[in-house]
Amino acid sequence: MLLFIFFGAFIQQTILISQLERWLSTGAGGNIPKGKGIWENIYYHFYCLRNAKKKRKKQLSKIIKQFRQSTDVLPDAAIVLGENNEIEWSNKLAKKVLGLKKVDKGQRLSNLIRSPEFILFLNTSHEDETLIIISPINSNISLQIRLVKYGIGQRLLIAQDITQQQKIESMRKNFVDNVSHELRTPLTVLKGYLETLQDINYTNNQQSELLGYSLTQMYGQTERMQYLVDDLLLLARLETQQQKVGYVDIIALINIICMEIEGLETQPRIELHFKTDSGLYGEEADLYSAFSNLIVNALKYSPPESTVKVIWSQKNNYLYFDVIDTGEGIAEIHIPRITERFYRIDIKRNYKLSGTGLGLAIVKHVLMRHEAKLIINSQPQQGSHFSCEFPKQALKK
Ligand code: ADP
Repeated sequence: MLLFIFFGAFIQQTILISQLERWLSTGAGGNIPKGKGIWENIYYHFYCLRNAKKKRKKQLSKIIKQFRQSTDVLPDAAIVLGENNEIEWSNKLAKKVLGLKKVDKGQRLSNLIRSPEFILFLNTSHEDETLIIISPINSNISLQIRLVKYGIGQRLLIAQDITQQQKIESMRKNFVDNVSHELRTPLTVLKGYLETLQDINYTNNQQSELLGYSLTQMYGQTERMQYLVDDLLLLARLETQQQKVGYVDIIALINIICMEIEGLETQPRIELHFKTDSGLYGEEADLYSAFSNLIVNALKYSPPESTVKVIWSQKNNYLYFDVIDTGEGIAEIHIPRITERFYRIDIKRNYKLSGTGLGLAIVKHVLMRHEAKLIINSQPQQGSHFSCEFPKQALKK
């Protein structure tokens, strides 16, 4: 009898277990099977777990939906790249401006955007670097690309449409170029007349003294405006025109510059050191402007009797043009900004010193065109050291 009861219970348990197994194997959906005693509790726990899972799934899909919606309205194209630059995810705009398709998921981005400069950027770029490319599907769109590292080996590629910004910038440049160009002739005429008027010998009275003073002032300001216009036109040319590269004998160039500048000085102040006879491949006229700006600045912003060192040297396959003065120096906060157009430190103090505030902007552009770098070391009252570092590729002779 006992065996009978035991056997009956065993069969019942087996039925319940197989019922549970069947229910679980069909995804634990629909109604929960009925059970008694401990089985009722087991089913109840399963029921709770199933509901919690359902709820979590719902929440997750809501978050994913919200994420998709927000990334789709992002003003920039975004792509998540894996360790080997394979596409893991991209937003709507990435598809629109970079021409990506749904099926491109998992593909290497370098197989889809094949421009060599883009591939080089993907493989070598650092976090603070950007690259401007033309959209592979619309040549009217310019994109600024940035790569940000995150996660393990993952990177986020952000492509910003800068077409409008570039248009505005080009309009601004054109405007400045045109105005500068148009001002050139009237200024030459004005300067010519002022020169003639200055030569006239006026009768010696108070009025003629005032007239003489006014003419000198007018002449000085016209000359200043002419320098300004010339510098603006030079900058415009540096930004737009193709470089005419040729071999430049730097020693000869520095000698000419220094001779011309020394001619304007009352006593010789430049100390020349040539440590290499190497020249450079570049544009002579531009290098002339950059080097002379640096030497003139060194003389201008240091005491009249002080000496300025000009050094041409080679180190570790780099060529260096150094200008060292013992003048007023530059405070650290100004250093990152002094190559900006019209940036002049302490204008009141420098007002008496002629200058346009464009000299170092010209230096920066000339160096950029020669793939060179401007290194500035300076401290107030300790003098300044401006160093132009030309890379190895310019080292041909
Ligand atoms: P500027 O025509 O005023 O000389 P630059 O662009 O050549 O314009 O230089 C910008 C500013 O940087 C200058 O106004 C000056 O304040 C500072 N500067 C440039 N070179 C030197 C230097 N060698 N020593 C100290 N200050 C300098």
